[in-house]
Amino acid sequence: MSTSRNYRTPIRHHHWPEDQAMAAHRVKTLLKSHDATLVAHYYTDESIQRLAEETGGCVSDSLDMARFGHNHKARTLVVAGVRFMGETAKILNPEKRVLIPDLEATCSLDEGCPVDQFTKFCNAHPDRTVVVYANTSAAVKARADWVVTSSIAVKVIQHLKDRGEKILWAPDKHLGRYIQDITGADMLLWNSACIIHESFKATALAALKKQKPEAAVLVHPESPAEVIALADVVGSTTRLIQAARDLPNTSFIVATDNGIFYKMKQVAPDKTFFEAPTAGHGATCESCAHCPWMAMNSLDKIAHVLETGDNEIHIDEGIRVQALQATQRMLDFADRARQQLIAHTA
Ligand code: SF4
Repeated sequence: MSTSRNYRTPIRHHHWPEDQAMAAHRVKTLLKSHDATLVAHYYTDESIQRLAEETGGCVSDSLDMARFGHNHKARTLVVAGVRFMGETAKILNPEKRVLIPDLEATCSLDEGCPVDQFTKFCNAHPDRTVVVYANTSAAVKARADWVVTSSIAVKVIQHLKDRGEKILWAPDKHLGRYIQDITGADMLLWNSACIIHESFKATALAALKKQKPEAAVLVHPESPAEVIALADVVGSTTRLIQAARDLPNTSFIVATDNGIFYKMKQVAPDKTFFEAPTAGHGATCESCAHCPWMAMNSLDKIAHVLETGDNEIHIDEGIRVQALQATQRMLDFADRARQQLIAHTA
């Protein structure tokens, strides 16, 4: 079991640490001079999240990253996250230049769902509506009817089930099973997983829960079913951050990438956060609860791509247009759901 780290240390916003101040200043200047904005995921390093906040960019989950980039007037989007997030930005913004800090920053879900095998799987089940998680390549999205993120997945599948549709789901089997349990939809699942969330361990989590009975357990649904079963709240990164802010508990055990603690500490500075136990062993674990591909992002790499124009995302136009249809369907659905909620609460 990994040593459970405590994330109580308050964040300071007035001064940049000395070793980051120059790089932060350089990126700020480059963003301005290149008419660029920084769109960062919650799992990136806190220096990147902070810089996105300080420059009017965005720090969010992949659904809001896509929305923000689409609505922002900047000509260049620097997407700090993993490659599929850069591709999603390009799918939605063909007229913009999309740069990512490291082209090698991938995702085990994307890697685990190659388009040729996925196409065969879809072709073998033509009666099913194809729904893919955002963590996929543009080519896989192009073969789908719907793209969803974890913040909207349950609602979309419920909607399709209510319309009498049977689902083919890819690539995350844990998220797929979780949605299936909640909605009762007929879902055929692709067999892939997130290496980070899959490493959370139920037995060790139950033991930690016993040691800290006052702590609420927050779990991302890419985690195994036994871990989800121990959760007080299951949800997307945005949902878990809201729970950290809103629940009365003063401490939390969190089963998702530990990059999220930056935002959790920001919205709940007096609360204490512990990592849920993973398969690693304390100090010997290189990537306990932290995605090695998200960790490839850095301020220096952001400065480098802005200076050189390297690592631009390009997508074949035929694939882009098809992937856009499936992605736009989700964004329109999310907008309708939001409007209905506003009308309901007005
Ligand atoms: S944390 Fe998991 S799902 Fe997210 S990018 Fe890394 S491997 Fe992919």
